[in-house]
Amino acid sequence: MYKHPQMSRIYNFSAGPATIPEAVLAEAQEHLLNYHGAGFSIMEASHRGPQYDAVHTEATANIKELMGLGDTHEVLFMTGGATSQFSIIPMNLLGEGKTADYTLDGSWAKKAVAAGKKVGSINVAADVREDRPLRLPRIDELQLTDNAAYLHVTSNETIEGIQWKEFPKHDTLVSDMSSDILSRKLDFSSFGLIYAGAQKNLGPSGVTLVIVRKDLLEAADDSIPEIMKYSVQASKNSLFNTPPTFSIYMLALTTRWMKEQGGVEAIQVVNERKAKTLYDQIDSSDYWTGSAAVENRSDMNVTFRLPSEDLEAQFLKEAGENGMSALKGHRSVGGIRASIYNAMPEAGVETLVSFMKAFEAANG
Ligand SMILES: *Cc1c(COP(=O)(O)O)cnc(C)c1O
Repeated sequence: MYKHPQMSRIYNFSAGPATIPEAVLAEAQEHLLNYHGAGFSIMEASHRGPQYDAVHTEATANIKELMGLGDTHEVLFMTGGATSQFSIIPMNLLGEGKTADYTLDGSWAKKAVAAGKKVGSINVAADVREDRPLRLPRIDELQLTDNAAYLHVTSNETIEGIQWKEFPKHDTLVSDMSSDILSRKLDFSSFGLIYAGAQKNLGPSGVTLVIVRKDLLEAADDSIPEIMKYSVQASKNSLFNTPPTFSIYMLALTTRWMKEQGGVEAIQVVNERKAKTLYDQIDSSDYWTGSAAVENRSDMNVTFRLPSEDLEAQFLKEAGENGMSALKGHRSVGGIRASIYNAMPEAGVETLVSFMKAFEAANG
C-alpha cells in the first residue's frame, strides 16, 4: 500500500487544504503509531497529559517567536475556521453602539461583512469587488468611521489573488491572514487581532489561530457563550475544552520547519522569488493575462487567464498529466489559480513555468 513519497507525490497547487512540507508529513508519520516511545499516538494522548502539553507549549512558543510577539498579545488555538471568526470577532470586539469598518475587496471579505452584519453595525469602508482587474482599495479611498471599534481587512484574498502590501493604519486593525500568515515579515504586534484557519500556511485544517491584543480581551459582552469569549480562551490557555490536538501538533511541526528555514524573513525571500518567477512568465506575452491589478498581486495565490476557456480546460488537463494538480481557478473568478504557499517548493513553480512555456509554444 505504502509508496515512497518521492515516487508518488505531485506538485499540489491547491488553495486549501494545501500542500504541507514533506519533512513535516514524514516526521508525523515516523511518530504516528508510537509517539517518541510513549506507546500511543499523539492523537491518542490526553490534552492534559505531558506529551500533548509539550506540543501545545511548543506551538505557542513557535508562533510567538516567528511573529516577534511580546507580552502584548495572546496566542489562541480555536476551532471553527476563519469562518467562525467572522462572527466571533464582532461578538467580542463590537461593543454596544459601536461600528466596525470593513474593506470589501474579495470573496472572503464579503463573507466577513455578511457575518458581521448579523452581529452589529458594520460600515463598508470601500467596495471594489466589481472592479477589473481585481484590486484592493487604495488607503486614501477608505471611508472610515470615527471611533470605529476596529478596521477589518483580508490581508490576502485567496480566491482573487490580491494581497495588501502596506496596511491601512488603525488603532485596532483586525486581519484575516488565513492565506498569507507567516509568509512575510510584518509588524504583527501592530495588529489588534489576527486570525487564520490553518490549512493554507500552518498545517492541516482543524485549528484556527487567533492572535489578540490583551487590552481587547475584556471588550466582550457577558452574554456571549464562554467558548467564544477570547478572555475565557486566554485564561484557559486554549484548553477550555478539548482542542484539536492533532492539528495543533501538525502546526507545531510546521512552525518548527519554518524556523529551520530561517524564519519569516528567509521564507519571504523564497516566496517573493517564486511569485516573481510566475508573474514574469505571465507578463512575458499576451498569451497570459494576470487577473489581479499589478500593484495588488498576491505572492500566495497567482490568478491568470489563457486566451479562451477551452485552452484553460486543456491547460488544466495537461498540467494534471504532468504532475501538477488543483490549478483550476475558483468558479467566481475563473481561469487558473496557482497557490504557492510557504510549503510549495521552488521546483514546483519552476516545473509549472516550464510547462506554461511548452504549452504556449504548442498552442499559441
Ligand atoms: C480559506 C479562507 C477562509 C475560510 O477558512 P475556513 O477555515 O474554511 O473557515 C477565510 N478567509 C480566507 C482569506 C481564506 O483563505
